[in-house]
Amino acid sequence: MKVLAIGCHPDDLEIGCAGTLAKYKKLGHEVTAVHVCNGNLGHVIIEPDELRKIRIEEARKAGSLAGIPVRTLDIGDLLVYGDKKEHRDKMTALIAEEQPDVIITHCPNDYMPDHNAVSQLVFDASFAASVPHYPATGGKAAKVVPIYYMDTVGGVGTSPTEYVDISEFIDLKLKMLNCHESQIKWMLEHDHIDFTEFVKTCAAFRGLQCGVAYAEGFTKCTFWPKVVPGTLLP
Ligand SMILES: [Zn+2]
Repeated sequence: MKVLAIGCHPDDLEIGCAGTLAKYKKLGHEVTAVHVCNGNLGHVIIEPDELRKIRIEEARKAGSLAGIPVRTLDIGDLLVYGDKKEHRDKMTALIAEEQPDVIITHCPNDYMPDHNAVSQLVFDASFAASVPHYPATGGKAAKVVPIYYMDTVGGVGTSPTEYVDISEFIDLKLKMLNCHESQIKWMLEHDHIDFTEFVKTCAAFRGLQCGVAYAEGFTKCTFWPKVVPGTLLP
């Protein structure tokens, strides 16, 4: 199976679904990770152009720990809009090129506009990508496939309908998260926020809900024809 995980900023996939992606890989599935924004505004001191390069490299390094290739659509932070044709076309071209069997992305009600814009873009583009004569597909239509939404940051406002046991992969997930040094280390040293502990606690809480040590929670996008019997989550 081909899994396409589409997060907004470099680090969002590590927060929301790195354990699940590592599990897919271990089971022999093909996984591609995509960051839509380049994270260029995510620091108080480092200037955007320099930060963009650092964050793209941090994301690549994180993916490599699980053997996952990482792509970026390289859109600046706070410049991504769910209703912008140029962005929908970029997303459509990506989905048509990747030909996924399942897509993971942000849920539509997360804490910041970029995440919600990405969720909308993925939903809209996953349909557009199935239309062969829509120009952005380049004539290579993709199937309409199930979409699973990751937890919001902190799990606030969401109640998962599906859980993936990531107990075996929690250390790898946190290692991948810690590749995002410009975020994690900075937050710890300057804001005194231990984001590694934050993410670990969320995974432990989701684990508690489903009777395992650590889990990641998801909700299924329930629109025809994206619904299939059973689950495609590992
Ligand atoms: Zn983000």
